[in-house]
Amino acid sequence: MTIPAMPSSPKTSDNMLEVRNVEVIYDEVILVLRGLSIEVPTGSIVALLGSNGAGKSTTLKALAGLLDSEHGEVTDGTIRMEDREISRLDPAARVGLGMSLCMEGRHVFSHLTVADNLTAGAYSRTRQQKKEAEDLVYSFFPRLHDLRTRVAGYLSGGEQQMLAIGRAMMAGPRLLMLDEPSLGLAPLLVKDIFDHIKRLNEELGLTVLVVEQNAKRALDIADHGYIMEQGRIVLEGSADELKANPDVKEFYLGLGDEGARKSYRDVKHYKRRKRWL
Ligand code: ATP
Repeated sequence: MTIPAMPSSPKTSDNMLEVRNVEVIYDEVILVLRGLSIEVPTGSIVALLGSNGAGKSTTLKALAGLLDSEHGEVTDGTIRMEDREISRLDPAARVGLGMSLCMEGRHVFSHLTVADNLTAGAYSRTRQQKKEAEDLVYSFFPRLHDLRTRVAGYLSGGEQQMLAIGRAMMAGPRLLMLDEPSLGLAPLLVKDIFDHIKRLNEELGLTVLVVEQNAKRALDIADHGYIMEQGRIVLEGSADELKANPDVKEFYLGLGDEGARKSYRDVKHYKRRKRWL
């Protein structure tokens, strides 16, 4: 009689984040994430791309534990951060594990000064940690130091985006998640913001998950990317593979085979779906 082999013990993951088959429902009926699976290797930058309404923000809120206030719920699947299942943890506990979510720039506290916005991001930290984090943020974004006594609502879009990232850094994260950092910014500012994100990864070793509609910019700094449509991943690959993929070029980078610019909005939906399959 042969004895069945014992299943091998699970190896410690090299992933900062592992999301498996996650389903999210709003208001008990609206199914928005339909079995979403992604991995974010420790030390990498991963881009989650997709058009309006694909479910990108919902994904970040599910990861950060912020669905409750919107009557949303993770109804299936697992979310693991460094081998720990976190999908039932409250948002503060997830921050405590090293996860920080940066909402897009308009979510700064507009009536507070820059310095007070940063302080608000450090609510869970000691005075010393707060001071160190503040110094780090100001050294990364000298412009924020110049503006520290200004009321955030009067900052430009690019400055507000820097502040939003700075506030997320105040929690001392190891995993930084960013929701559309390029939204509403002029191209030069977008480049500047993405250069800063790359530096956070390279110089501070932050693992980054960035959600974007600006596929080109995101893939320029990312190691790996996922394309999301209608609540699930339809394509994934290294950033170089995705940039070379004809469908990604056509529908997300606005470039046809001949290099002619083309918008995916011009193409019939059924054709898009068919080509991903
Ligand atoms: P965008 O780039 O436009 O923000 P997205 O990819 O981030 O899009 P989500 O904001 O996650 O997409 O929205 C995905 C779907 O979930 C959309 O159909 C949206 O209408 C729906 N949705 C989002 N938030 C809620 C909510 N609080 N209640 C009900 N439905 C919601």
